Amino acid sequence: MIRIGVDFGGTKIEAAALDQDGRFLSRVRQPNPGDYDTAIRVVCDLIQRAEQEAGAKGTVGVGVPGSISPRTGLMRNANSVYLNGRTFREDLATALGRDVHMANDANCLALSEAVDGAAAGARVAFAIIIGTGCGGGLVVDGQLVEGANGIGGEWGHIPLPSPQGAELPGTECWCGQRNCLETWVSGTGLRRDFERVSGRSMNGEGIIHAARRGDADAVGAMDRYIDRLGRAMALIVNILDPDVFVLGGGLSNVTELYERLPAAMRPHVFSDGWEAKIAPARWGDSSGVRGAARLWHS
Ligand SMILES: [Zn+2]
Repeated sequence: MIRIGVDFGGTKIEAAALDQDGRFLSRVRQPNPGDYDTAIRVVCDLIQRAEQEAGAKGTVGVGVPGSISPRTGLMRNANSVYLNGRTFREDLATALGRDVHMANDANCLALSEAVDGAAAGARVAFAIIIGTGCGGGLVVDGQLVEGANGIGGEWGHIPLPSPQGAELPGTECWCGQRNCLETWVSGTGLRRDFERVSGRSMNGEGIIHAARRGDADAVGAMDRYIDRLGRAMALIVNILDPDVFVLGGGLSNVTELYERLPAAMRPHVFSDGWEAKIAPARWGDSSGVRGAARLWHS
């Protein structure tokens, strides 16, 4: 039996077939079409192509931005907003003619990394996506914790802890709240903060390179970014005290984070001493499809 994992991203949708040992048999991708009906067709088409290339049919797991309300079965909290309020899982299952498992994309990252990635063997693993947006997922003893209301590990839309000075009142978030972590610790948040303070405009990668060259505006933005991410991760330590944090998304490639986050977190951790592993996703961008494929066996 093979497993199909689909990573439903804001810009692209990818499907992959994995064998029992987690080896890739096929991988196909297409741009996100930006509307619901076409998206259903694109996902079906990608699954069919992945299975054709792999030479077998498999179970289907899909990682999505946002989550499904266990009360209503409707999608919510997705930044591909056309998914919200739709019965995406059922509609996809109907179109495919078989059952579909679906979970939040950060949960898929957490599951993938807990099964055979940077958090393998961890009792409590917390995965964070810091990319265009920001999200979190929790795995305990190898099991995904989706929670009583389906928002377990959801981390991106809690307010920045201990806000001070210019951090108040904070930016309004697309979710309707103010000062969400996503508005600060996503790549978008880093760019907005740099622009707000320096009056200059640069993308995330540009800011990181400029900081490495010693550009004072970029150094300041990186210092503030790491301090904020540290506060936000210390909050997780104070509730769950994970053995391992796994970082995914574009900003997880910034090596300085792993060197500097422990010192940024420690003052906010409610403990006399604190140690934990903080590591980039072993499977990088593939964690989405790998975790989605494993939704059938978590
Ligand atoms: Zn928000």
